[in-house]
Amino acid sequence: MKVLVPVKRVVDYNVKVRVKSDQTGVDIANVKMSMNPFDEIAVEEATRLKEKGVASEVVVVSCGVAQCQETLRTAMAIGADRAILAETSEELQPLAVAKLLKALVEKEQPQLVILGKQAIDDDANQTGQMLAALLDWPQATFASKVEVADGKATVTREVDGGLETLSLALPAIVTTDLRLNEPRYVTLPNIMKAKKKPLETVKPEDLGVDVKPRLKTLKVSEPPARKAGVKVADVAALVDKLKNEAKVV
Ligand code: AMP
Repeated sequence: MKVLVPVKRVVDYNVKVRVKSDQTGVDIANVKMSMNPFDEIAVEEATRLKEKGVASEVVVVSCGVAQCQETLRTAMAIGADRAILAETSEELQPLAVAKLLKALVEKEQPQLVILGKQAIDDDANQTGQMLAALLDWPQATFASKVEVADGKATVTREVDGGLETLSLALPAIVTTDLRLNEPRYVTLPNIMKAKKKPLETVKPEDLGVDVKPRLKTLKVSEPPARKAGVKVADVAALVDKLKNEAKVV
C-alpha cells in the first residue's frame, strides 16, 4: 500500500509573525520556515505504517516555491521514501493545492493520503476536505488514532465530549490531529540519507492545473494591543473596580 503525505512549508511556530506595513499580508522575509507541525505528525504516522509492514512506500508532496525542497528533505529524514515538488511561485490557496494533489494522486495511485488537519499559517483547514470531494473518496478528519487492515482504515476522531470511530474503505483521506503521535527527532545519519533519496519536480502546467487564486485578501491586521493591567491594594478595591469600572459583577 502506497501512502501519500502532502507537507506544507510554513513560518516556524516559534516565530512571532509581523504584519506588513501596507497590511497586504504577513512579512516572511528572513523568517525561519519549517514543516507545518500537523504534517510532521502525518509523515510520522505514514512512516510508522511502513515500519509495521502495512505501507510499502511513503511519498511526500509539497506545493510551492523551490525552497519547499528543504521541507521535503526533512520529511524524507523522518522516513518518507521519495518526494515530489509541484513547483510554483504563485500564491497557492487550498483549492489550488487540492487540485494539484488530485492530479498527483491520479498519477501515483496511493491507497491512503494523510494530510495535516490545518496549516498553521493561514489556518484554512480546507485542503484535505476539498481533496476528498474532488476525488470522491471517504474522509476522516482530525484523527487521533489510525489503524489500517483488510482494505479499511479505522480512524478515531476527537469530537466534542468524546471519541468517534469511523471505518473507511480505502482509498481514503485522513487528516491528523495533535494527539495522533509524537514525531521522532530527525537524526544526522537520517538527514544524510535523505539527501540521496529521489526528489522529482513538476510544474502545475505539467499536471494540467490552473492555480490562479480565487480569493482576494483585502486586509491583514494585528490584533488590538492589550491595555496594561493595574495592581489593586486589596480585595475590597478589586470588587469596587469590578462593580463600578468593569461593571462585570
Ligand atoms: P490547510 O487547508 O491550508 O489548512 O492545510 C491542510 C493540510 O493540507 C496541510 O496540513 C497539508 O497537509 C496540506 N497542504 C496545504 N497546503 C499545502 C501545500 N502548499 N503543499 C503541500 N501540502 C499542503
